[in-house]
Amino acid sequence: MQDLFSLQDKVAIITGGNGGLGKAIARGLAAVGANLVIAARNEAKTIAAVSDIHEEFGTRVLGVRIDVRQDEQVRSLAAKALETFGCIDILVNNAGVNIRKLPQNYTAAEWDDVLDTNLRGTFLCSQAVYPAMKAAGRGKIINIGSMTSIFGGRRSAPYGASKGGIVQLTRGLAVDWASDNIQVNAILPGYFNTDLTRQARKDIPGIKHHVITRTPVGRWGEPEELAGVAIFLASRAADFITGVALPVDGGYSVMM
Ligand code: NDP
Repeated sequence: MQDLFSLQDKVAIITGGNGGLGKAIARGLAAVGANLVIAARNEAKTIAAVSDIHEEFGTRVLGVRIDVRQDEQVRSLAAKALETFGCIDILVNNAGVNIRKLPQNYTAAEWDDVLDTNLRGTFLCSQAVYPAMKAAGRGKIINIGSMTSIFGGRRSAPYGASKGGIVQLTRGLAVDWASDNIQVNAILPGYFNTDLTRQARKDIPGIKHHVITRTPVGRWGEPEELAGVAIFLASRAADFITGVALPVDGGYSVMM
């Protein structure tokens, strides 16, 4: 019972783990013993995150430069993780982008960029780790959705489409991979202070105050507040939980 939430010597890949929510999740997993692969595009940010997390928790941390939109890079991410650590126990599909516009103003390339990063990237990364998880006889995949997985968001139609898709992708993978003992779940964050929402606060007048009044706990979330749920879903404690989409939102999704 004592080790229910331990991730000692487990290996976790976190896409977009070099900043924002991904880094907070990575720190949480490292705090309970996991070795990490931080995978993102910006090398300088990744190097800094790798060194911060290794220094703070002492676990092994590998940084890999990757664009989740590129199939070959995704396949090589799994290969590098296996080469370094010999196994992949946990995948957190966190890499994500948003382009905020009115629907009529998106180009097809902008639609593709958002969908390819958030939804296709999640699918490709999940596919890439599957053989290692199947061979090991266990695995945990955690996908990051959003309140736009549930609600219509302003100036975010492609983003909402991708995050709605995350919930259905999570369910589909959960069903097909249940017999391989791979649990696939989604976290639906409410509004958290990160670079992504800093941009939204610039672009959308009044959003800061709107979120405070619309969220029952009356504040924005801090990235560290996602660590606990990620540890839980990655741990033995969640072995009988699969296919769920768990809001972590200060009550946003339950208030009329
Ligand atoms: P940030 O912009 O701070 O982080 C996004 C991360 O994704 C960065 O680490 C970035 O790294 C990485 N990333 C983006 N595109 C790619 C790509 N093509 N390939 C690899 N990595 C990529 O945003 P958040 O931390 O806020 O968001 C993290 C996740 O949480 C996203 O999926 C977002 O949709 C979701 N979310 C966030 C909410 C919030 O309130 N902040 C609310 C709901 C959901 P790099 O640039 O180096 O590639």
